[in-house]
Amino acid sequence: MGTPRDTASTQAAVVIERLEEEYPDSTISLRYSNRLELLIAVILSAQCTDERVNTETEHLFEKYDGPEDYANAPQEELAEDLNSITYYNNKASYIRSACEAIVEEHDGEVPDTMSELTDLSGVGRKTANVVLQHGHDVVEGIVVDTHVQRLSRRLGLTEEERPEAIEQELMEIVPEGYWQQFTHLCIDHGRATCSARNPDCDGCVLADVCPSEKGDSRIDLASGEPW
Ligand code: SF4
Repeated sequence: MGTPRDTASTQAAVVIERLEEEYPDSTISLRYSNRLELLIAVILSAQCTDERVNTETEHLFEKYDGPEDYANAPQEELAEDLNSITYYNNKASYIRSACEAIVEEHDGEVPDTMSELTDLSGVGRKTANVVLQHGHDVVEGIVVDTHVQRLSRRLGLTEEERPEAIEQELMEIVPEGYWQQFTHLCIDHGRATCSARNPDCDGCVLADVCPSEKGDSRIDLASGEPW
């Protein structure tokens, strides 16, 4: 078991410093070329890999151009165009309805506030945070996806379980200038080393500060269960 720093803030600082060194080019991995494409890619990425989403959006973004195209597409046709994505029927319906609202209530533009974004179908706080950060350069919070959730708990940064509560705690201890990058660093480390089922603690740059480190700790703090 590693020994975490004395306070959650200093623990967050060392985590950020080490991960920045490890992943200097860490950034969003979804592909898009405008705000609407970003919004659609993020809606599609719920419980689906970014890689799969990028493959599917390559042809999707060629076929559909602008919110009217999605809003006017028949449900079956759009669903069929997304059929390798998890929950493609629901996601097709969210996209059609969100685009309808964008056309009717926002002059065809993706809104730039948390409340307007979360009023759109299929858009929760996590999706809205990603769109605000990468589409509008507005950083209002920290995107808590499954990797951020798992790593924050494993590393002793929070004991909260729900993403919204984790976000609030992280916002207290992660310096505001790192709110956006913190997510990408956690995602990169979660993919490369600290995977859900079989983290490579031996090869981890955080092993000496991680209270879940498998060598000594019996417990995975992310799940609260023994390793
Ligand atoms: S890989 Fe192991 S040591 Fe590294 S952060 Fe994950 S649980 Fe901790």
